[in-house]
Order: sequence, then C-alpha cells, then structure tokens
Amino acid sequence: MSRPRIGVLGLQGDVREHVRALRHHGADAQVVRRPAELAEVDGLVIPGGESTTMIKLAVAFELLEPLRERIRAGLPAYGSCAGMILLADRLANPAPGQETVGGLDITVRRNAFGRQVQSFEAPVDFTGMAGPFHAVFIRAPWVESAGAAVTVLARVSDGPAAGRIVAVRQGCVLATAFHPELTGDLRVHGFFVDLVRASPATSAQEE
Ligand code: GLN
Repeated sequence: MSRPRIGVLGLQGDVREHVRALRHHGADAQVVRRPAELAEVDGLVIPGGESTTMIKLAVAFELLEPLRERIRAGLPAYGSCAGMILLADRLANPAPGQETVGGLDITVRRNAFGRQVQSFEAPVDFTGMAGPFHAVFIRAPWVESAGAAVTVLARVSDGPAAGRIVAVRQGCVLATAFHPELTGDLRVHGFFVDLVRASPATSAQEE
C-alpha cells in the first residue's frame, strides 16, 4: 500500500501536528471524530493532550467501543503521550473513573516525572534508529511495567528517571511517552507509516 489512509483521533490535543507528520511520510492523513470515519482508516494515531478529557469525549462521541473493537481486530495504532495512556491496558494512577481504550499490555503512570520536571527534553536511544532521538516530554507518563509480548523501544538514559520505559510496541500497536510530532524529527511517524503499509489487515484491501 503506497498511500495508507491513517486517521488522527481529533477529539482533543495536538491533532494537526500529527496530520502534518503523517503526510510528510506519504500517508493520506485525516481527522477521525466519528465511528464512520474510524471505519475507513488503515491505521490510527492518538495524539498528545489530556487523557482524561480525551476519554470522556470518546465516550460522548460513541467512539470508545468502536476504538476498542478495531484495535482488538488488529488496526495499527500509535499513541503519543496522552495517546500512550489511552492505549494502555492498565493505569497505575487513573483519575477517578478514568477508562482506557487498551491494546498494549502495559501499566502506565500518568504525570510520572513529577512536578519539578513537568516538561523537559532529553535524548533517548530508540531501538532500530541510528543515533539518539531528541525527545520532548510534557507532563509525560512512563511505562511502569510491560507484559511479555511487549517490546521496549526506548528508555530514559540518565537523570533521576534513568531506565524508565518511554516507548513500546506490541504487534502493530506503538506508543511513546514523548511527542515526536512537536520536533522536526519525524522518524517515529515514518516507522508507524511503514508498519501500517506492512500490516496484513490493511494490505488485504488492496488486492
Ligand atoms: N498528562 C497528560 C494526561 O494525563 C498527558 C500529557 C500530554 O499528552 N502531553 O493525559
């Protein structure tokens, strides 16, 4: 599939930046706000923003169950920051009543880096990428624990949070605690677009 159709969940957050990054890599990127729009895409990005707001809006827009179903059925998905929180099967510190979409066998801690360092930038070594990735963290989560089927792609390399997991992949579901869409380094989006191109669920439609 040369030009996969990739949706960006457009309920809240930095939607436009992801659309731009996906287009840069040759994807046909579009905003998804309704179940009918979700049904049309070959892959989905869940942006950064505020996970508690995003999940409430997903319920209000009747998207939560369709999201769960499509991801369970193998839709490639990528979540950055709040998107990582939404894709986690478990939260260490959910807001009261906070649900997730799920898809990744991980436990995520929201706002994990503490008050002093709510936002910071740091280089991380990202598996499969040549050279460090300059990562921007904004009130970011980290992955507290991950199941056996999850591949760790990046960890914080130094400072008080050294060793903490900040990027993971399980099958065709990918998540980063940081925001590659906010920097000029769009390698994570390239990785995701390639993953969508290679996905059996989507390439079948081409035949
Ligand atoms: N702290 C936010 C949350 O709980 C995530 C922050 C972000 O996406 N930059 O959703």
